[in-house]
Amino acid sequence: MSRLVLKFGGTSVADLERIRNVAAHVKREVDAGHEVAVTVSAMSGRTNELVNWVHTMPGIAGKNAPFFDAREYDAVVASGEQVTAGLLAIALQSMEIDARSWLGWQLPIKTSSAHGSARIEEIDGGEIIERMGRGQVAVIAGFQGVGPDNRIATLGRGGSDTSAVAIAAAIKADRCDIYTDVDGVYTTDPRIVPSARRLSKVSFEEMLEMASLGAKVLQVRSVELAKVHGVPIFVRSSFDDPASIDSSPGATPPGTLICDEDEIVEQQVVTGIAYARDEAQISLRRVSDKPGVAAAVFGPLADANVNVDMIVQNVSEDGSVTDMTFTVPNSDLEKATSVLNKSRDEIGFEVLQSDPGMVKVSVIGVGMRSHAGVASTAFRSLFEHGVNIRAITTSEIKISILIDEAYAELAVRALHSVYGLDKE
Ligand code: ADP
Ligand code: ASP
Ligand code: MG
Repeated sequence: MSRLVLKFGGTSVADLERIRNVAAHVKREVDAGHEVAVTVSAMSGRTNELVNWVHTMPGIAGKNAPFFDAREYDAVVASGEQVTAGLLAIALQSMEIDARSWLGWQLPIKTSSAHGSARIEEIDGGEIIERMGRGQVAVIAGFQGVGPDNRIATLGRGGSDTSAVAIAAAIKADRCDIYTDVDGVYTTDPRIVPSARRLSKVSFEEMLEMASLGAKVLQVRSVELAKVHGVPIFVRSSFDDPASIDSSPGATPPGTLICDEDEIVEQQVVTGIAYARDEAQISLRRVSDKPGVAAAVFGPLADANVNVDMIVQNVSEDGSVTDMTFTVPNSDLEKATSVLNKSRDEIGFEVLQSDPGMVKVSVIGVGMRSHAGVASTAFRSLFEHGVNIRAITTSEIKISILIDEAYAELAVRALHSVYGLDKE
């Protein structure tokens, strides 16, 4: 007997029929003798709709409007998960499974005070464990908790993955199954590259990079938590017929296990390609080349909570002026340019150029630590496909390249094939 947390994403609970299908998956695990807790997302599209309602409330002028009570945003957008948790509990009860729904505040799932992007700080798993022992299935609303102000707090988009892993850690589950609309983690987004291959195992480190560089199959924070608490994650499809899946010990259904690096025997040099749209490039031209300039540029941006990513500074020809280029999320571009223009005298630049239509493509693999030439292969391939590189950053296990949006799919396909990731 194992203790399992099963998480079902938006497309898996998109309507009543899909929720019934989810209940059949849960029943399968219960019938196999496992203790089960479930976490659900809102029906697909519902959270977008709720967010949109908040932003289009008359008097609220767009996403970056100055007046915005994030506590009320959370009260609105958390509601989608309340509906699916209740409906799934009802579907399970109709199959004669003892089940009840839980909202974040009822457990409670305690979070930080950062409404809209709160972090889970503590979960009391005691009551769930006790009820599991009696055969009850807990259906927990994902994406939400309760802040120190006793108000509902949400965890940032895609946050139900994090709810599931945090609950798995709190109740000491043997595994956290993330059911979604693909049957595992692929070498790249299978919707963009049909020749992408499913990976049977991916290390926590690589999954962390893939998720933070754009592969939205798992929220970054969920992978961080899984790594810290040693929770194995199994990514699998809810679209497989529940009746055809073997839940007995030792059975290996299709999916991807996210686990420690030393559990992976066959290691490729490159594991996957990720991409992130909605990047903007800012270039400051003719900035004086003297100590303290970088601090003068990035200090005020940090104070304004602008997330700066890639940074490139040219070496100046005569030691007096240089160019500085960096990227920020598109959504922060307006804020960033206004902050920089305000500090113009202090920084001392001549021209500020900004370009919103950028994409960051990344090559990821722990094998890069011990192999030379991975970066030059990427650069050659992009050159051969006529793709211009705007900026580059690297770490031990990844290379990220900034390119124009128009080339995104071409670049992802070219890199996927040059590293031999296409399926035969
Ligand atoms: P859910 O609603 O179940 O949380 P998401 O839409 O958040 O599902 O995540 C699943 C999607 O992630 C897939 O439909 C797929 O298009 C996308 N995706 C991006 N990169 C990858 C990848 N490397 N492997 C698998 N899926 C990926
Ligand atoms: N429903 C939330 C969202 O769309 C959380 C999730 O799906 O993980 O972001
Ligand atoms: Mg998701």
